[in-house]
Order: sequence, then structure tokens, then C-alpha cells
Amino acid sequence: MKYVSTRGEAPILNFEEVLLAGLARDGGLYVPERWPQLDAAKIASFAGRPFAETAVEVIHPFVGTSVGREALLEMSRDAYASFGHAAVTPLIQIDTNRFVLELFHGPTLAFKDVAMQLLARLMDHVLQKRAGRATIIGATSGDTGGAAIEAFRGTSNVDVFILFPDGRVSDVQRRMMTTPSESNVHAIAVRGTFDDCQALVKGMFNHHAFRDRVQLSGVNSINWARIVAQITYYFVAAAALGSPHRRVSFSVPTGNFGDIFAGYGAKRMGLPIDRLVIASNENDILPRTLESATYETRGVVATTSPSMDIQVSSNFERYLYEASNRESSGVRRQMDSLKQAGRFELEGQVASAMRVDFAAASAGEDDVARTVRKVLEDSQYLVEPHTACGVHALKYCLNDSDQTVPQVVLATAHPAKFPDAMEAITGQRPKLPERLKSLMSDKERFPVLDNDQAVIETYIENNARAGTDNHA
Ligand SMILES: *Cc1c(COP(=O)(O)O)cnc(C)c1O
Repeated sequence: MKYVSTRGEAPILNFEEVLLAGLARDGGLYVPERWPQLDAAKIASFAGRPFAETAVEVIHPFVGTSVGREALLEMSRDAYASFGHAAVTPLIQIDTNRFVLELFHGPTLAFKDVAMQLLARLMDHVLQKRAGRATIIGATSGDTGGAAIEAFRGTSNVDVFILFPDGRVSDVQRRMMTTPSESNVHAIAVRGTFDDCQALVKGMFNHHAFRDRVQLSGVNSINWARIVAQITYYFVAAAALGSPHRRVSFSVPTGNFGDIFAGYGAKRMGLPIDRLVIASNENDILPRTLESATYETRGVVATTSPSMDIQVSSNFERYLYEASNRESSGVRRQMDSLKQAGRFELEGQVASAMRVDFAAASAGEDDVARTVRKVLEDSQYLVEPHTACGVHALKYCLNDSDQTVPQVVLATAHPAKFPDAMEAITGQRPKLPERLKSLMSDKERFPVLDNDQAVIETYIENNARAGTDNHA
């Protein structure tokens, strides 16, 4: 399988190269040259099958000859063995024909583990084959950093450095990054804000000598391998509910548009998805875009669903490219306009395609609290704030749809990840799952460094194995 950039001016790469590259050199995002097709018999065969096996069926067509099928199966089994539920992503019924797909049984209790656990193994495998090493750096406001550190702990060829703002992440989030003891994973507290951390990461990527010396790589949400790994659970859930003979709708708590783009990908591969619902919090750029055909940034507001507090949805660029019949010149124009003016207009054809492919709704903080209490009261089931946005959006988007079509809300995090917000809404503090009970007492390890690029770079060079010979 070959990959092309949404901006049309970067080299065409294979899976392995895309995995290591992250962002394309022209600033665009990589997409597959075509969508592999899974026929009805194949989709039907996923019902009752182990998650790790279905993952291989879904993912291998995107990987091509880069990674063998057997090797992929081994990585997939290993990745999903780290989950605290044998089904990996179980479906829970909360109402007549309404289900929650629990994506939070991974080591850091959020859906990002599903992709990150596999991505880490793929990267390590590919680097092993090439006798190469990589250094991953990232900035986190909480969730992604923990998922990356958990996924890469102990890998042979990759070192990970995650910058987080000192004193500004929750205790649970910090401990998930600072308690793993493997010497290849490093959390660094920076005396500054999340924006400072992001600026440092950007600065290091732009410092080419440093970048080459330590062989920098990224695992943020635009990495294509993360999207691919998320396609699996749409197939798993739909097959369990009767696909291919039955259509299924999904409501997806959305920030960077990665998770919902994976749903769109599943549909393009032949999964009979009825509606795909974009569920936002008060940061509602996508619902506004669907309504007005204008994509326009506004300031970010802080909510109880922080992983969706975003100003721009980076992966939306991939949809723009698909919906404009792969017109990269238009995408380039729109992304320029976004950079210059903070906005762009959708072309007529894209605006109408978007209304066919998606529905969208946003939830205010009151809606979130009301929804959490209502689901608890009606179904004795606890959803956290991101998932509550997904439940809320159903009411607006699927009210008049065919009620025989099952509705699946993606549960993107475990309630225990947001104990303060949950306590404020329900009066109860949710407990961490049993397997994480030592988290709050395990020994932490992290330096606190100044908000100074040279200081951080020195720390990384002294602790990374890539580009040095001291790893022998
Ligand atoms: C990252 C995240 C989201 C948003 O996912 P995108 O792929 O960025 O749209 C939603 N909920 C939780 C809990 C997350 O961590």
C-alpha cells in the first residue's frame, strides 16, 4: 500500500515510512492511495472472533509487505493482552437498541491505548528490521503522554521523552507517566504551561542538527498508524450487532477528528455504518462547520472533558481531501487560509458531502452533568464527561433516524480518570480499577527542568540511545 500527502507535494511513501515519518514534509497528512475493501463474508466472520485476530484482518491490507501477517498477529496479541478486559473493547447495553463501546480497558484508562499499544510494537519492529533507533518527543496536557509512555516502556529501539507542565496535570495523569521504571521512557516536568511544552517540542523538531542526531519521531494523533488501529473496533462492534446484515450508527466524542475519521475509514472499507455522529463539548468548531460550511477557529474554553478542548481538529484535513475527490490544491489553499485568517470556507460539494457523511452536536457543561445523572438513573451505568458528550449528541442527531438501527456511543475514558469532575456531578468519587491500585503509592521518577530548549535538549541527548554508542 502506498500513501500520499493531503497537500500533494511530499514523496509517496509505504506504510513503514509513514509510520516513522508522522507529518508529511509538505505539512500535509498521509492517507492511503485507496481504501481496501472487506466483503460481507469477511465482515460476518468477525462476529465472535478474538479482537487481536480481527485487528490483523482490518489492518494488514494497509500494511502491505512492510510487516508480515504472522508478525502482525503476534504484535496484536501482545498489545491487547495489556488490556484489563478479555473482550478488549466490550459492548454494554444501556437502553433499547443503545450501546456503549468501552474503549478504556487499556493501561491508562483511555481509548488512546488501543492504538498506541499496537503503534509502539509496530515502530519497534520496523526499527529492529532496519537496525535503526528513534527518539520520540511529545508534549502532553494529560492523556497522550501516559498512553505513549505505557506503550513504549521497555521497547528495544525507541526512547520516549514526554514534556508536561509542572503542577498542571492531575495526580493520576502524572503518576501514569512518572511511575514506569524502564530506562527508555522519561517524563519531564517543565516549569511552564502546556503551550510552553508544545513550543519546546516544535522548537526541537525545527532544530535540524538536534533532530538528526537523536532521530526524532512523533506519535501524535496525526500518525496514520494510530488511525488505522482505531478502525478495528468499529468492525468489532458492528459485527457483534449484526453487520454486515444490519446497519449500525456510532456517536464519537471528538477532538482532533482522529477517532471519527477511523469510523469514516471503516465505512469506506465496506462497513454498513448508518450515521456517524461528531460529538463535541463547548469547543464546537466541527458542529459549526457542518452547520455553516465555514471552518473558523475561536479561543479554547476549558471543560470537564479536557481531551476535547481543542481549537483545530488536525485530522479534519484528511476528510477535506477525501470529500473534495482528492484535490490537494484546494486543501493547500484552505490550510493557508486557516493559517493566515483562522478560517476557510468549505466548497459546496464538500459541505453537502459532510452533511451526508456526518451529523454533529455539541454539549454544554450543563448537558454533560445532566446526561451523566440521567444515564446513571436510567441504566445504573456511569459515563465520564467525554462519553457523556457522545450520549448527549444522540438526542439531537438520531432522534428521527430509523430506530431499528443500533446506536453505539464510544466510551473514550474510564470515569476514574476524572474523579473531581465525577464527584462534582454525582457526589461520588469513582474508584480506580483493581489492577491500578498501586499507582498512587508507586515510586515516581522525573526531573523538573526550566522552560529552556537548550536545557531540555541536553537532557534528552544525555538520556537517549539513538545517535550514541553508549547503548551497547
Ligand atoms: C483524545 C480523546 C478524545 C478525542 O479523540 P480524537 O481522536 O482527538 O477526536 C476523546 N476522549 C478522550 C478521553 C480522549 O483522550
